[in-house]
Parts: sequence; structure tokens; C-alpha cells
Amino acid sequence: MHCPQFSSCSARLSGGYCPDTDKDRFNQLINSDDHFLPDDFHQVKPCGGEIMQHVERLAEHKFGRNRADELPVPTNLIELASEEHPIEVRPLDLRACYAATWYMPDGWVIQVSDAISPSRKRFTLFHEAFHIIAHNCCQTPKFKQRGGNQGSFNELLADYFAICVLMPQERVREQWLELSDVDGMAIAFDVPTSTMWLRLKEMDLIN
Ligand SMILES: [Zn+2]
Repeated sequence: MHCPQFSSCSARLSGGYCPDTDKDRFNQLINSDDHFLPDDFHQVKPCGGEIMQHVERLAEHKFGRNRADELPVPTNLIELASEEHPIEVRPLDLRACYAATWYMPDGWVIQVSDAISPSRKRFTLFHEAFHIIAHNCCQTPKFKQRGGNQGSFNELLADYFAICVLMPQERVREQWLELSDVDGMAIAFDVPTSTMWLRLKEMDLIN
């Protein structure tokens, strides 16, 4: 439910922005997609603590080697999220949430809403990939369903994982030199504008 480094985080203790204490706002930002207005979120910043660096390393470890230079990052990489079981993606008329992930006897099924934009769909797939990876490496009890985007800190980690996979830092830096425009970058990487803004802010490419 909370950041595992909450009590010892030097960034938070020295007065830095903490997504854990501002979860709802952080969630709102990430989910505001292309209707997002930066001025509404000027107080929201990327996490300055170490936890997100662990997530970035996990994304690199899982997808880095296989992530070709092509943009946007292809979604079929999702197959690499589980080494033991196949992952099937099924579009479904989901309204109350973006996606639900199920563990079935013959593998994983990600049901993803077809009522959301293509860029949100891509983002959601790698959000769900984080849950599958976390499930595999932590030997947590098999869960049947994951849905919704509110609540636990775990959901923010899953969102950040999707940011790392879909917006590799070196590619973002290169493209920024050419485009220097948040909307253009969001189109090039095929991601929600709000998430591109957050990545650029984190990398100090915008103020
Ligand atoms: Zn989730």
C-alpha cells in the first residue's frame, strides 16, 4: 500500500516531493492523458527517492536488451514479462477500469478496455506487465484480478514501470533534441501526453 522506503527515504526527509503522500494527485496527473494541462500539476514532481530507480532497472533488465531502436516501442515485447507462461491480450468492453489481469491454468490473460485511446492501451499493457513480473519474482499468492488505478503505491510503481519501458531515457534525449515539444514527443512515442510530460520533467528536459 505504501512506498517500502517511506520511513528511510532521504529525498522525502529532506523535503522533496513524495508521490506516496500525494497519491491521488499523482494518479490524476498520469490518468489525465491528452487533456492534461501542465499548470494544474505544477506541484506534482517525479519521485526523487531511490524506489523508482529500482523500477527503472527492472524495466531495463526485462526489456532493455530486446527493445530495438524503433519508435514507438512495440507492444509485443509484453511476451517477455513472463518466462514461464504465455501472455494473451484480449480487448474487452471494460468501462469501470482500464484492464484486468488473470492467471489461468494455461497462462496469463490481460483483458484491456477497448474504450480507451491506443496510447493509453499501450501504457496499460506495460502497467499490467509490472503486476505479472512482481507476481513471478515475489512468489506472492496467485491473484485472480487486478483492476482500477486508485489506491495502493503498487499502482504508481506499475505506472512508472510503463513509463520506463515505453520511454527509454536515451531515446527520449535523442528525440527531444529533434522535436523539443511535449505533444510531438507523445505522438512519436505513442504514449499519453501526461506521461511524456512526467518523463521529460524527471529527466530535467522541461521545467
Ligand atoms: Zn495495476
